[in-house]
Amino acid sequence: MQPLKILMLSAEVAPFAKVGGLADVCGSLPKALAALGHDVRVVMPAYAAIEAALRTGKHGVRAYPLTLRVPMTREMVPTGVLDATLPGSEVPVYFIAERQRFGDRPFLYGYPDDPYRFAFFSRAALDLVIAALGWRPDIVHAHDWHAAPALAWLATAGRDDPRYAALPTVCTIHNLMHQGRASWRVLDYLGVRAQRLVEERPGEVNFLARGIYHATMINTVSPTYAREILTREGGFGLDALLRYRHFDVHGILNGLDYEVWDPAADRHLAAPFDVSTLRWRIHNKRALQVRAGLPRRDDVPLVAMVTRLDSQKGLDITGHVLHLLLNNHAGEAQCVVLGSGSAVYEKMLRHLADHHQGRMTACLGYDAELAPLIYGGSDIFLMPSLFEPCGLGQLIAMRYGSVPVVRGTGGLADTVRAGVTGFTFINYNADAFWNALQEALCIYRVDRDSWRALQRTGMTGDYSWETSARAYQQIYQWAIARVRGG
Ligand code: ADP
Repeated sequence: MQPLKILMLSAEVAPFAKVGGLADVCGSLPKALAALGHDVRVVMPAYAAIEAALRTGKHGVRAYPLTLRVPMTREMVPTGVLDATLPGSEVPVYFIAERQRFGDRPFLYGYPDDPYRFAFFSRAALDLVIAALGWRPDIVHAHDWHAAPALAWLATAGRDDPRYAALPTVCTIHNLMHQGRASWRVLDYLGVRAQRLVEERPGEVNFLARGIYHATMINTVSPTYAREILTREGGFGLDALLRYRHFDVHGILNGLDYEVWDPAADRHLAAPFDVSTLRWRIHNKRALQVRAGLPRRDDVPLVAMVTRLDSQKGLDITGHVLHLLLNNHAGEAQCVVLGSGSAVYEKMLRHLADHHQGRMTACLGYDAELAPLIYGGSDIFLMPSLFEPCGLGQLIAMRYGSVPVVRGTGGLADTVRAGVTGFTFINYNADAFWNALQEALCIYRVDRDSWRALQRTGMTGDYSWETSARAYQQIYQWAIARVRGG
């Protein structure tokens, strides 16, 4: 196929700025698309960490010799530009360097003027690449609500300007829970005149709803989540709009960055291993036991979680199950949980770990060095999510030989094959979760050959970005055909 010019807009791109899975996708997908021959450019805001990288030279961030004057409704905002390339590639990343909105603030999000910040970012990104650099993309790909103002602008104000008219667009939903709701005034600021959508309350704008409404194609990060968001239960109030557009809603699984997540080369492991040296894995289990202050017991199943402590992650049904697991005199077990987030769940885990001292350790905090040892040293990995757009944890666990026990929702349903690479349950309750975990423990204890087969199949599964990038390529082509009438 013809190489495409792809403009990607995102609030997070790894390794420059990361809060969640969005950054991983936007750090990996452009590289995978470039490897297929496409010309990809990425734009994100220059947060404080990126301004700091400019001073230290980290990640190759440089000043770009250009000052924009971003045309917002009542002002032209002078804005600097920084640039770098995605590590290990030639893909250019441009940073919108406007201090007041991004560079002088310690966090990426969480400010009352976030809708204005990202409306500005979206408009500035289009102005930079299309007007200032004169690079007209074949496709504009906006990720999550932060970049959706670009889609709203292109479909309204931008239609009358030949530089921006008739651009095919894709809107990717990474998590439908976050929608970018704000006062209607932000649309005036952006320069968009529009009718209120049914999903918007009077006086309110919903940027993600506008992205879904205006994008030529829409996708989310797994086929099952793409179906779930069409339902009332999974739609977070946007299900009717998504059903209205359901012919254009696709599900594309995220890949795993194999350069980052490779058990054969991971320096955080005590003993790197691959599928042919699975027997070395036990050294990681022992190292994890030492690190977690648990007794060294090779044959006792070590059950683990690495997670944000958020109600999305199924923690409401986890406490009871861990308690049953560690109280179970029919068979011993150990447990390590690494997590940070809500104080309620931190308290729950601390309480459980106190009660089951010597069998459970709760590591409360974000620890990127410990996480790989947990994936590579635990036997069973739990992900009982209430909902899960794609999920990375189960993919990493499988690649590192830890067998996942998951709720069959969203991307978990699409990646963990019951009885082949892991164990699943459907109903969101502790009983169902406990039964699935019991099934896993039973095989672990009595049938080591089947256990090894589960590990091997998980470790050798294809979760590469290349597969995902080909699927994105397909929806880009559909979007282009729709706009150009092909
Ligand atoms: P989400 O993006 O919803 O948080 P994912 O499963 O898609 O969930 O991605 C979570 C990623 O963050 C995984 O790479 C996981 O290892 C990592 N992670 C989550 N919590 C922690 C933590 N406390 N310490 C280290 N890594 C964590």
